[in-house]
Amino acid sequence: MKFVCTCCGEEQDQYPAIAYKVPLYYANLSEEEKESIAEIDSDTCIVKEAEMTFRFVRGVLVQKVTDGCQDLEYGVWVSLSEQSFNDYILNANEDGYQATYFGWLNSLLPDYDFEEMENIKTKVITQGKGKRPLIEIQKNEYMSSRLVADYHNGISEEEALLRIEKILNR
Ligand SMILES: [Zn+2]
Repeated sequence: MKFVCTCCGEEQDQYPAIAYKVPLYYANLSEEEKESIAEIDSDTCIVKEAEMTFRFVRGVLVQKVTDGCQDLEYGVWVSLSEQSFNDYILNANEDGYQATYFGWLNSLLPDYDFEEMENIKTKVITQGKGKRPLIEIQKNEYMSSRLVADYHNGISEEEALLRIEKILNR
């Protein structure tokens, strides 16, 4: 989609959102498991394993672009504790309700390591009625991670365009 940019005044193509329809954990289940132990809709997912139940919500992760006018948006999933998930289900769609939860990232962004992805801590911030929560990546002092560094330092416009191209040609 084209728009006239408020930052440089030129007509630009809007970046597409890079979105994941399901959490990584769900994507890795067999077809049979998806039927029998998982429930999913566009914003929430529950997987009931024998030992443990996993709960996920979808949110928006904004990657800063340092030398461009637009930031890159990812539609990603995070896993929440039972308490946070229940609170989200009950309240997140209420206007004016504000909450912040702890979540583990559960989407595999292209070009990052799987091992890295499993250890990304996030802050999940509700945005009120009809809006997906904002997901902020937290620094992890026990682990060096390119994703954490990129998130906090920003990426170049060139890098952002490369990522979009990769996703569109997938
Ligand atoms: Zn601009």
